[in-house]
Amino acid sequence: MPNAFDHLDSNVSNYCRQWPVVFDRAVGSHLYDESGRAWLDFFTGAGALNYGHNHPDLKKALLAHLERDGLVQGLDMWTGPRRLLLSTLDEVVLRPRGLDYKVQFSGPAGTTAVEAALKLARKITGRRRVVGFVNGFHGMTLGAQSLAGSARRHDTGVPPRDTVLIPFDDGTTPSAPGADRWAVLDGDGTDPPAAVVVETVQGEGGVNVARAEWLRSLSAACRRNGVLLIVDDVQMGCGRTGPFFSFEAAGVRPDIVCLSKSLSGYGLPLGLTLFRRELDRWRPGEHSGTFRGVGPALLTAARALELFWADDALADRTAVNAAVLARSLADIAGRRPDLDPVVRGRGMVWGLALRRPGDAAAVAREAFRRGLLVETAGPRDEVVKLMPALTIPADELARGLRILADAVDALPGAPVARRQEQEGMLA
Ligand SMILES: *Cc1c(COP(=O)(O)O)cnc(C)c1O
Repeated sequence: MPNAFDHLDSNVSNYCRQWPVVFDRAVGSHLYDESGRAWLDFFTGAGALNYGHNHPDLKKALLAHLERDGLVQGLDMWTGPRRLLLSTLDEVVLRPRGLDYKVQFSGPAGTTAVEAALKLARKITGRRRVVGFVNGFHGMTLGAQSLAGSARRHDTGVPPRDTVLIPFDDGTTPSAPGADRWAVLDGDGTDPPAAVVVETVQGEGGVNVARAEWLRSLSAACRRNGVLLIVDDVQMGCGRTGPFFSFEAAGVRPDIVCLSKSLSGYGLPLGLTLFRRELDRWRPGEHSGTFRGVGPALLTAARALELFWADDALADRTAVNAAVLARSLADIAGRRPDLDPVVRGRGMVWGLALRRPGDAAAVAREAFRRGLLVETAGPRDEVVKLMPALTIPADELARGLRILADAVDALPGAPVARRQEQEGMLA
């Protein structure tokens, strides 16, 4: 009998190539393979597990729902979990922030939340062009892919249409509003676009952090031109940068917000598209999908909001952890000036960029060997990306950072090893 994975699992599967073990159980910040070996998790399901694996309170709610035969597949019918999620979102997240958003259950994923946002923006403005940013990532469906900044744009078989990519904040552009970097919004001889789609921190793009003033300047340019500002908070929302929404610190108010990944709190598929109340010009059924009302996901999402966002405790904890991560990464980088390391991040998302090709992947491989899951990001996969659970205990965070330090220390410094690495890549 051939190995089922080798025989049937498509070549397209990716993480299994980096971590070739069969995972079995997971609790908090640990995953276990079938032999019981543990890995510490600085990957958290690519950001879908901000509260760790199988949180006991969420699990309890989930099991109770299943036990009483609560509806699992509900399309967009009214159900108890749907009402609970809406009312909890309103009470815990929207009202305290003065956000008068309506809520579209746009599908099970991040990419479906983005597609709904694009369709609504084009419908409302009557314009077609949408602006995205170099090194942005918004998902794998056609509309989202057409906005993928260079490196994450895969060949979809059709050319991207009606999209423009402009440079993301590089920290050096002048911050005065009206500077010509917003020319494409200010009508550089053409009509303004329908919308701009932005991540406040580019996750897949390599943990590129936009400054607050840059975001405010972008928001002002959108406002000047009636361009809708869409924040893709699929990865950086739900507290990843500290506050619930990643744009809060900058004080901007997006017209449309996309959420998914950690929204269900339990790793269950759920996406939402939020938009200003006046933008709710959908007709019933004008946008739909089968998986827009998965009871268990709605329920754990509501419980997660209640559990983690009714007060500032988690955001405060993230601020403390952010300082720990910044300090440890600065130490790690300081020991290896030969690698040209650059440290960047916010909250609980950090990147260690290593200039030499293959180094970041080598660190991730070595970390895996030593019992830590970390992934790489960036246009050349040159960034080691750290996304521990927001709930990780201090000692586990410290232990993961020690493993990372050892993995970086283990990188060869000699040119001979570097040549071997490049030959390996060509082979
Ligand atoms: C992951 C991600 C998406 C896509 O989410 P899927 O659930 O994989 O479709 C969209 N935007 C951002 C910023 C993401 O990180």
